Amino acid sequence: MIVGYPFSAVVGHDDLKLALLLNAVSPAIGGVLVRGEKGTAKSTVVRSLAALLPEVAVVADCRFSCDPAAPDPSCPDGPHESGLSPQTRPARLVELPVGASEDRVAGSLDLERALTEGVKAFEPGLLAAAHRGVLYVDEVNLLHDHLVDLLLDAAAMGVAHVEREGVSVRHAARFLLVGTMNPEEGELRPQLLDRFGLAVEVRASRDPAERAEVVRRRLAFDADPAGYSGAYAASERDLAQRIAAARERLPAVTLPDDALRGITAVCAAFDVEGMRADLVMARTAVALAAWEGRDEVTPGDVRTAARLALPHRRRRDPFDDPGQGLDEERLEQALSEALSPDDDSGDDAPDDAPDDGPDDDGPGGGGASGGEPADAPPGEGGASAGGRRPESPGAPYRTRLLAPEAVGRGGPAGRRGRTTGESGRAVGARTPDGRLRRLDLPATLAAAAPHQRGRGRTGSGLVLRREDLREALREGRESNLVLFCVDASGSMAARTRMRAVKGAVLSLLLDAYQRRDKVGLVTFRGEEATVALPPTSSVELASGRLARLATGGRTPLAAGLRRAERVLAAERLRDPRRRPLLVVVTDGRHTSGPDPVVTARRLAGVASVVVDCEHGPVRLGLAGRLAAALGGTAIRLEELAADHLAAVVRDVRKVA
Ligand SMILES: [Zn+2]
Repeated sequence: MIVGYPFSAVVGHDDLKLALLLNAVSPAIGGVLVRGEKGTAKSTVVRSLAALLPEVAVVADCRFSCDPAAPDPSCPDGPHESGLSPQTRPARLVELPVGASEDRVAGSLDLERALTEGVKAFEPGLLAAAHRGVLYVDEVNLLHDHLVDLLLDAAAMGVAHVEREGVSVRHAARFLLVGTMNPEEGELRPQLLDRFGLAVEVRASRDPAERAEVVRRRLAFDADPAGYSGAYAASERDLAQRIAAARERLPAVTLPDDALRGITAVCAAFDVEGMRADLVMARTAVALAAWEGRDEVTPGDVRTAARLALPHRRRRDPFDDPGQGLDEERLEQALSEALSPDDDSGDDAPDDAPDDGPDDDGPGGGGASGGEPADAPPGEGGASAGGRRPESPGAPYRTRLLAPEAVGRGGPAGRRGRTTGESGRAVGARTPDGRLRRLDLPATLAAAAPHQRGRGRTGSGLVLRREDLREALREGRESNLVLFCVDASGSMAARTRMRAVKGAVLSLLLDAYQRRDKVGLVTFRGEEATVALPPTSSVELASGRLARLATGGRTPLAAGLRRAERVLAAERLRDPRRRPLLVVVTDGRHTSGPDPVVTARRLAGVASVVVDCEHGPVRLGLAGRLAAALGGTAIRLEELAADHLAAVVRDVRKVA
């Protein structure tokens, strides 16, 4: 058996350890998201948690870990007889690999057996394995969006659900969800961020003595894992007992009114969305009191809960660093106003305290001290150093359809590229090449009909065999990832020109919104390229960012393409079914960095369109050369509008 690194031997990482322990005490908190650079032992700490969790009693032979005291009534292995002698086993830590298939995560239903033999054959997935334990996703930011949704839904409901062709299976799946990520490799979508109960930022210590201790312990562990772990056995046992005791104490912990007021005041002061933050903070504060052996939540618990539950929930510009900590001053102010002794007299007016301070002073004061440059509204000094005041985009118009030329396979439903898949116009039927997902009933019946006599059919039912099954082959439209790579350099920056360029990109964004695409925005100017907007479904974010885009400087075209290449690579992992369309908006000149043509050739496998922004009497045709290297098409900015169609029918055929 592999010996894990002991939790109690981990140096530092106090917030991370506390967040994990509190979730172990109260899984209702909703899990932990751990953000941090590489090499910070995030995974080691998470993996070491499982050994501290109390053992679970399970029904013998149940693959879904039913509790003998309260078996899951919908358990696929059930119903279980009562009075079975329970077995105990250690709590599991199940790791969900980034590339896992949906079947592997949710479990797989053998539709063929269901249809031909009438048996619900269900193979449990990772969600079932993690029931009553820990589900750990390393690099959760790179996980396929669809899997993240599935995961977070199961975590929120405590139930996993699989349905195919009307045959459905559900089973309990309650687990402590822990995700780790390195923000340098891409952020988690904002709408997923706040579905994790707590978030902690981890950094390697900057203290040489502490670093030395980390190294010393790691070397000692690697030299003799069993011996080293043995030395921590007592402290591990203590921690495990403390978790068990805190779990027992938890239901008895009370949350006094003033502590609750503190929680709501802090959430209001930080302008968090919805009520989830308040609930998570309350649960965290209660778990903390239980962890420390107290029966009542104190202001200190509320303060700690805020530090763990709020940083990823502050309402903010999507381009702010979600890793930023909380504004301590604002936290203290909100707390002291909510908890100040002079509202002891005002028990009958509990609303006064939270309303007074935070609403008047909170956001205003925070705005003045906090990220003013980043939050500046468009056109009001929003230009960053070196750029000038951003031009507002020209009025949007209806654009021509830009789409990948090839027909895709099984992309998510949408309105852009052509794809075969589960919806759309039926173009035929086929024998499934893998597991059957969508039955084509008429084709299946037609395949089975000639054999009925030969198969000895006597009654009214049809004798169906596996080889009869057919699925429909359909062709429809898919939704794509449209990644814009926009040149914001000086050569593009003639004021009216940039207005036209921004207007064009805005028009394409609106088009992407109507076609239900995901969009992303990479820009380049000066010495570097930046991901102005990681791929998102929020077109509002993209258009806001576009309006504020500053222009000027040299043209690092290759850097822009390289950055786009990296964004596409990360998205390929995260959302592999969605085909990308790269839209490069540039005049094709490059004045900084390496020759863009080399980078462009590396992107030749990606469908791409270059919107040629070159203008004036002398044209160099550089955008056309770039398009050729990309293996895509060039289209002049002036030709982008849909009503320009008649004149460029030939080009449209090439592009669409
Ligand atoms: Zn069961």
